[in-house]
Order: sequence, then structure tokens, then C-alpha cells
Amino acid sequence: MSSEWEAVIGLEVHVQLSTRSKIFSGATTAYGAEPNTQVSFVDAALPGTLPVPNRGAIERAIEFGLAVGATVAERSVFARKNYFYPDLPKGYQISQYELPIVSGGSVKARLEDGREIEVALTRAHLEEDAGKSVHDAFHAASGVDLNRAGTPLLEVVSEPVMHSAAEAVAYMKALHRLVRWLGICDGNMQEGSFRCDANVSVRRPGAPLGTRNEIKNVNSFRFVEKAIDYEIERQIRALENGETIVQATRLYDAAANRTRTMRSKEDALDYRYFPDPDLPPLLLDASDLERARARLPELPDARRRRFIEQLGLPEYDADKLTEERAWSDYFESMLQVLPAQAKLCANWVLGELASALNADQIAIEDSRVDASALAALLARIADQTISGKIAKDVFAAMWAGEGTADAIIDARGLRQITDDGALAGAIEALIAQFPEQIAKYRAGDEKIFQFLIGQLMKATRGKANPAQLNQMLRSRL
Ligand code: ADP
Ligand code: MG
Repeated sequence: MSSEWEAVIGLEVHVQLSTRSKIFSGATTAYGAEPNTQVSFVDAALPGTLPVPNRGAIERAIEFGLAVGATVAERSVFARKNYFYPDLPKGYQISQYELPIVSGGSVKARLEDGREIEVALTRAHLEEDAGKSVHDAFHAASGVDLNRAGTPLLEVVSEPVMHSAAEAVAYMKALHRLVRWLGICDGNMQEGSFRCDANVSVRRPGAPLGTRNEIKNVNSFRFVEKAIDYEIERQIRALENGETIVQATRLYDAAANRTRTMRSKEDALDYRYFPDPDLPPLLLDASDLERARARLPELPDARRRRFIEQLGLPEYDADKLTEERAWSDYFESMLQVLPAQAKLCANWVLGELASALNADQIAIEDSRVDASALAALLARIADQTISGKIAKDVFAAMWAGEGTADAIIDARGLRQITDDGALAGAIEALIAQFPEQIAKYRAGDEKIFQFLIGQLMKATRGKANPAQLNQMLRSRL
């Protein structure tokens, strides 16, 4: 990108709220059913039906608002956004317009290079999803699947304050982590539970905002990054050729890595918004907010800071351990058993446990070794019953369902040899077996020492206490 231009980016992210039923009907929101099997009369907009708001959707929106430090409105209003489309049977979408449930707030994000940004939010409003047109199921005809119609969405709108694709992706990732952490969205991007419209414009630094183009419905972090980069380049090239940017809605074509115009952009005016007469204003009082606040877990940023400042974990470990709440909770459960061994626990969660879960493709919630069992194993490293190396074998046995750490250590006779007499015997045998090497060591060849320790470890089948062995061998030689 030429340095005389500044990109400006604002994102609208659709967060699908994880309620079991829809936002204004009792139909299920489960993904992947046969077309039109999850459509109530309300979703199909039969005359005479009335929407009834889903308390769970509202509670999730409040939790989000509190988590991002926003203002949660005591009074918000559902509005009709009118447009015609085959997958929208009512002819309007119920959304919020002038008075959204959440206003303001911000989300902190960290870029790959470690830089931190804080992205201001304009608002977050509740709305229903539309159905889906299906163009590839029938010959010379399109179908409409209304299963998705009425699925609850929280649309999170950022201010136009990001200046590169990298910043936009970092923000989107932070938002994704947050809504999953709160448990208000499953975050499944392939299923469309978390998707983004990216608004992009460019300008001369210091100049007023340029005309934006909006790239619709991008549902992967990589595509968002590529689509924005492409769009920035395209606009700069156009402006440098003396063209003007026309406000438009565009689609990103991943195969061709380019964006193309879908329609010239509607303005709010075109939607003829007005308060929905079927729904009274949504009134919340202090107790609604208090209950939501009580449900809020410790937030990932706070937990990350606590891991670094109070537990002394390196930033890398703290980052990894606060990406997902389930991982973080697992780690914290281990600390209940081993409060003084934070780093050891972190190493094992991010090392051995992560690779076992990964190899078997299972989620940490379903781990074959739970947090207290793993902590019980690490306690045996901490009290020097076994070495870290032997512990890996014990872990593999635990993973295979052979029992608890202590049972496996006993059954296999893996306790470290800490008996001086037994170790002294092994050292005498070593001296008899490797006279040449011993002589070299005594002549000052320090490198040979590790070889000798290795031989002793082999002779004791890894069960010697390394520190004790080191010390005994040195004093004997
Ligand atoms: P709409 O809902 O019609 O798409 P909004 O005015 O509410 O429009 O803006 C939506 C998004 O576009 C917001 O995230 C905002 O930050 C972003 N945006 C607005 N103006 C610009 C601009 N000139 N350049 C880049 N992004 C912009
Ligand atoms: Mg928009």
C-alpha cells in the first residue's frame, strides 16, 4: 500500500446467540436439519401470529454489553427494517434501530506483533436472522429454506477506527474469543454463527472519511484479511487513476481473491425503519443488570493479567491459557490441587495434554484425563517420586485408561531411586564398566560427564533422581 493513503475499517459482526429456540418463536435453532422442518407459524409470518421475545437472547445481549463496558439501555425498541427478499416472509426483519439494547463500550485486541489496540463499539443490537435461498437444489428453480429465519443475532457494530486488515482480524478474533468465553455464542464460523461485514474506505491522512464499500458475510478470519487487503488496494488504485469510489455492497470471491459489486448500497432511508407495533419497548431494570453481572465469568483479559502478575506465567503461556475458557478452567482446577506449581501445570496443559487431545481430536471438556487426575500426576513430579520423563509414560498409561497416576507408578515400579546405597552401587558398576571415560573426566574433560549420567540413567531405567545422581557422581569422582 502506498504510504500516502490511510485505510479506514469498521466491522459489523453478526453473533448468533446460543439460545435453543428462536428470538421470537419457540422453534428450535439447531443447525443442519432438513429444510423447512424448524419453522413455526411466527417464522413463516402467517397472518395473525405475534412475536414473543426470547428472554435468553436478551440476557445474552445484556451480558455482552456489561462485558465490553457498554451502556445497557433501560429502554430499547424493536424496529422493522423493511425490504423485500424471498427468504424474508414478513417483508421486514425485526431489528433495533434508534434505541439499541447496547451502546458504546470497547474491545481490546492484540496483534500478531504484540501491539495492542482498543476498538470502540458504536452499538450492539438484537435482531432476527433471515432464511436462506437455495439455488443449487432444483433445476431452473430456487428453493427457500426458512429454518434459519428468526435465529437470534446480536449485531456488534464497531466505530470506523481500524487501519489495516491485521487490526481488523485481531479485533474480530478478540470478539470471537469473548463471545465464546461468555458462552453466548458457539463461535462456529463454518455454520455461520459468527460472521462479519467489513466496511472499508481510504483517505489521505487527516482528511475526512472516504466513501466506504461494504464486503458482506465473510465467515473466516483469513478471508476477512484477504478481502480487506484486496479492497484497500482496489480503492487506492481507483483513486490514483482519478476515479471516484461509489458506495456499494460487495461480495468477496475467495477462489479469485477479489471483491465484486453485489448492489449499490442502500441507505437507512431505503429500509423505512419504524418501531414494531407488535412488540412493546424492551424495559430492563437494575435487577436485570445485576443478575447478568452475577452470571459474568472473570473475563479473559483480567484472567490473563492475573496469570502473569500473580502466578508469574510467561505472556505466551497466559495467552494460550486464556484463548478458551474451558482450557483456562482446566488449568485453574489443577491449581486447586497444586497451587505452587503454576508453571509446571501450564507446561503440561499446553504440552502433553494439548498434543494428546489433538492426536485424538477431542475437546478438553471430554479429556480422558481430567484436571484433578493430571494434577495428581504432577504432584508426583513435584515431590520427586518420579522424573518428568517417566511422568510422560505414566500420562500415556493414564490416557489409555490404565488408572490413576499413583496406581500406575506402583504397578510398574516407577518410583525414583532416592536410596543413596542403591545409587552408590550403580556408580561403582559404572566406574568398573567405563574406565577410559572415567579417566578422561578426571583429566578435565567435562563433556564426558553427561555421557556418564546418561549411562547411569539407563542402568537405573530412568528412575534415579537426576539431581541426587549428579551430586553423588561428582563427589565420587
Ligand atoms: P449500515 O448499517 O448502513 O451498513 P452504518 O453507518 O451503521 O451503516 O455503518 C456500519 C459500519 O460501517 C460501522 O462499523 C462503521 O464503523 C463503518 N463505517 C462507516 N463509515 C465508514 C467509512 N467511511 N469507512 C469505513 N467504515 C465505515
Ligand atoms: Mg451494514
